[in-house]
Amino acid sequence: MTTRLYSHPVFLEHLTPPGHPERPDRLRAIERVLDDEAFSALDRVKAPEGDEATILYAHPEDFIARVRAAIPESGIVSIDADTSASPKSWQAAVTAIGAANAAIDDVFEGRAANVFVAARPPGHHAEKTTAMGFCLFNTAAIAARHAQKKHQAERVAIVDWDVHHGNGTQDIFWDDPSVLYCSTHQMPLYPGTGAKSETGAGNIVNAPLAPSTGSETFRDAFLSRVLPSVDAFAPDLIIISAGFDAHHRDPLAEINLTEDDFDWATGQLMDRAGRHSGNRLVSLLEGGYDLQGLAFSVAAHVGRLMKG
Ligand SMILES: [Zn+2]
Repeated sequence: MTTRLYSHPVFLEHLTPPGHPERPDRLRAIERVLDDEAFSALDRVKAPEGDEATILYAHPEDFIARVRAAIPESGIVSIDADTSASPKSWQAAVTAIGAANAAIDDVFEGRAANVFVAARPPGHHAEKTTAMGFCLFNTAAIAARHAQKKHQAERVAIVDWDVHHGNGTQDIFWDDPSVLYCSTHQMPLYPGTGAKSETGAGNIVNAPLAPSTGSETFRDAFLSRVLPSVDAFAPDLIIISAGFDAHHRDPLAEINLTEDDFDWATGQLMDRAGRHSGNRLVSLLEGGYDLQGLAFSVAAHVGRLMKG
């Protein structure tokens, strides 16, 4: 069994205004770096069409209808100050969900050792009833629920190392002890949530990082807060909200990680998936806005996943 990679051409067709950091070129940079011979063993699969009904796992019907109604027939519209939609955004968002759910099926049904989903738009800022922070629907939250509904997973851990706090994922699972949400993120930074004191039903573990910190602080937060929480929770599945904007080159934040840190963190979570989760691990792309930092970080992440 090998590492599976989901992608789809429609992910390039979710358009944002000129100069917006969350742009199609992000996926082109990832495609280019994964074209290298070192990744020839990747099992590359075109994402299946998503099942719109699964959006309901994390969002109410009236909110879904509102997003759908906002999709324009042409051009680009603003959903909020920094979130936008173009004609293909609905299909891109639903296909991202389809890819994530398929990845869950793959690790539960033994079709892949682990999976990386290279999709956009990202998802972790989308709250139950609010699209924000470049995100329309919360793909990771929907995938976690899909694992519970279809595969009887009792406990799902979502580990989010995007440099921004995943307020959406925290919101959706705030009072649900069947899902552990652990986040490392810069604080203060958008969206403003993610203090240590935000603990939900005891299932929310925030590890804020001060601006200008780097590898040592990040790894210490992982070792002292994230990994012990995952161990205590003993999840049936680990989902990574894999944003790479804590890379030192990233223009949106001031955390100074290198690709080696993402390699290391990936290895730590693979080790935990081995101990607790039958190796079931699915990684979903979130942020990462410097094309070179993103490409190198994804290469380190996927390369580590492939080592098994
Ligand atoms: Zn981010």
